[in-house]
Amino acid sequence: MIVVLKPAPTAEMIQRVVQRVEGLGLKAHVIVGTERTVVAAVGNERNGAQQELESCDEVEKVLPILAPYKIASRETRTEPTVVKTGPLTLGGGHIGVIAGPCSVEDEAQILLAAEQVKAAGATGLRGGAFKPRTSPYSFHGLKDKGLELLALAREKTGLAVVTEVMTPQHVELVAEYADVLQIGARNMQNYHLLWAVGEVRKPVLLKRGPSATIEEFLLAAEYILDQGNTQVILCERGIRTFESHTRFTLPLATVPYLKERTHLPVVVDPSHGTGIASLVPAMSAASVAAGCDGLIIEVHPDPSHAMSDGAQTLTPAAFEATMATCRLVANALGKTM
Ligand code: PEP
Ligand code: MN
Repeated sequence: MIVVLKPAPTAEMIQRVVQRVEGLGLKAHVIVGTERTVVAAVGNERNGAQQELESCDEVEKVLPILAPYKIASRETRTEPTVVKTGPLTLGGGHIGVIAGPCSVEDEAQILLAAEQVKAAGATGLRGGAFKPRTSPYSFHGLKDKGLELLALAREKTGLAVVTEVMTPQHVELVAEYADVLQIGARNMQNYHLLWAVGEVRKPVLLKRGPSATIEEFLLAAEYILDQGNTQVILCERGIRTFESHTRFTLPLATVPYLKERTHLPVVVDPSHGTGIASLVPAMSAASVAAGCDGLIIEVHPDPSHAMSDGAQTLTPAAFEATMATCRLVANALGKTM
């Protein structure tokens, strides 16, 4: 339920409503907007709970939240959530770009990649230190050493670091180094991992599972939000279909659809979404045109020698050209990039 408070409530009034909500065995999430303050009351509602909250002096009205995802829903929060960390801003009319290699390979590679993507206008640096790979025999990342190298790249360039965490046991370690914790597509429904990153007070980039519906995707985001972490970024990275001309099928209708239903920022990953570097520039521009709040793009100083995902990785020159095109599209829509 959404408990809408009377205008300009004091801290004590909000606290009293929170206590009433908790007294009903529900979790209270206070959402302070520019117009109204609401308390989202979520959990297993018993009969009569709505009437009980409606009877509070501080409360103007109580509305049911129709969507199964409660805190993620636009019904709960009408204003967009803008995620900001260091120089990276996603949402609120600004398109943030996160770029870098699939994997952190060595110091020279990640430092050069960071400088190159920064020069082209990226404000976030991606790079996997813990890599989920389809084959157990593939390169699984430099692990702790990779995190240290990402921190070094941040020190040198100022870019915000986005990197994947694969298991709850590593959340504390990765959160020490990362500015944004990435949950990979394969882990979208790893509920213990979602709970663990929900405890962290840093943004989480949640990738859509290749076979997950949008409702399942938003319910996965809800696991993180329900733990009190409000900074969830949704990432469309392509789904599995009967098609085989691309690695995955990148459904860009996801972007405006999500924007209608949730206040969370939406990012597109055209690299994994296509698997083919030559398709990435056009799909990046199309993502911007579709209304995304950010892009995450694989870029390597020398894609032909990348240790993972080279075929879908842009050269620094191709990335620079992609940025220029995307900026034109963004500006045409009245957005900055
Ligand atoms: C990645 O970002 O390199 C990655 C492994 O992505 P995904 O989880 O979307 O496959
Ligand atoms: Mn990759």
